[in-house]
Amino acid sequence: MDEGRESAEHLREAVEESLVDELYARSRASFLGLGLVLVILRLLLDDVFKRSREIPYAFGFLVAVFLVRIVGVSYARRKSGWFASTRHRHVAFAIGSSITALGFCAINVVAFPHLDAVQIATLAVCHTGITAIALLSIGTSPIVYHLYMLPILGPMLVLTAIGPHGAGLRLLPVMIVLFMTVLSMMALNEYRTRRDNILLRLRIADMALVDALTQLRNRRYLQEFMGTEVEQVLRDWAGKGPRKKLWLMMVDLDHFKNVNDRFGHDAGDAVLRQLGAILRDTVRRQDVVARWGGEEFVIVARDVEGGPAGALAERIRERVAAHRFALPGGDTIPLTCSIGYSVYPFVATSPRALAWTDVLALADAGLYRAKQQGRNRVAGILSGETADKSGSANVDEVKNDVERASQSGIVRLVG
Ligand code: GH3
Ligand code: MG
Ligand code: MG
Repeated sequence: MDEGRESAEHLREAVEESLVDELYARSRASFLGLGLVLVILRLLLDDVFKRSREIPYAFGFLVAVFLVRIVGVSYARRKSGWFASTRHRHVAFAIGSSITALGFCAINVVAFPHLDAVQIATLAVCHTGITAIALLSIGTSPIVYHLYMLPILGPMLVLTAIGPHGAGLRLLPVMIVLFMTVLSMMALNEYRTRRDNILLRLRIADMALVDALTQLRNRRYLQEFMGTEVEQVLRDWAGKGPRKKLWLMMVDLDHFKNVNDRFGHDAGDAVLRQLGAILRDTVRRQDVVARWGGEEFVIVARDVEGGPAGALAERIRERVAAHRFALPGGDTIPLTCSIGYSVYPFVATSPRALAWTDVLALADAGLYRAKQQGRNRVAGILSGETADKSGSANVDEVKNDVERASQSGIVRLVG
């Protein structure tokens, strides 16, 4: 339940971030449009520029805002410092758009008394067109869009309705109202479509990484996760800071085939779901539990505190053995599991010697050993003296004969 709410929250944040990212990604187009408007406005108001004192100032202000925004946006896109927060980036963009729109608003209001009916009509067409085009770039945020559109078209609407040219331009305000309404609806629609698309994309991506039966992570997730996690570990080991380790465990139910054979496949599925829940419940939040396939699960525990991972593996073994697995018919049965584990980096003196998949193969070899020794037990395979000295270990050699590899000091067997 808690986890569900958390993932919904996580999804909401991811959608919000994608939307704001899009806002910034398309800002180049919107600035290009804005630059064009400034040129058009300058030409359109050429007469007024000569007659009015304020207009050149207002225009200069707008050009300055325009330039500051270009610099600001390229900085905010780096997502560092204050701009690391999605909300902050959104707010910054909204403020930039509002100031730009207020600049246009000021120019319109000041210029209005100096313009004749044809110029006003041209100005109105220019602004309605520009605000319509702006939808393409800032439509992902209805807030930003309205903060841009309303200060420009709102006063334009009032001025054309009550201005001295009222009679000649009496249809203009009606058209502006219509236009504003349609634009508002389009902005909302644009936002919803984009939001739903992003949501869908994230859900599908997430679904592809979750095991349908147990709701745990799946093999593909583990491969992606380990890819990035291993890089981080190797960076840690190359540096002077604390050296993180990744403990890899392979958990496999004992005689699970019997459950399917005796009680049916549904009972087997119910058992797997319960095992998944026990595993998730026993490890810490930051550890990864994935269904590797069939009835095999892989756990990645980062730097298990309080000593080696053997204790965690033992705790899992005990909890599984103590659990009564409920079957669909109402019966309960006891089951046990065996666990093999190993650690990445395997050879401390040479962290790159073995890939994480090699380490998983060694955990699997540990599992095999636990099965051979009678099941319901834990077996760890760690690097031995010979491997530490030579800085490498032959995985195939270890897998073929664990006991011999142990005798020759390549590995150290635990449990
Ligand atoms: P061992 O103690 O050696 O592990 O014996 P086992 O019977 O558990 O091992 P084995 O690997 O021979 O059998 C695994 C069984 O798991 C075989 C397969 O029918 C069953 N299995 C695999 N995936 C699923 C699944 O999704 N649902 C169910 N119900 N059974 C599954
Ligand atoms: Mg099994
Ligand atoms: Mg198996």
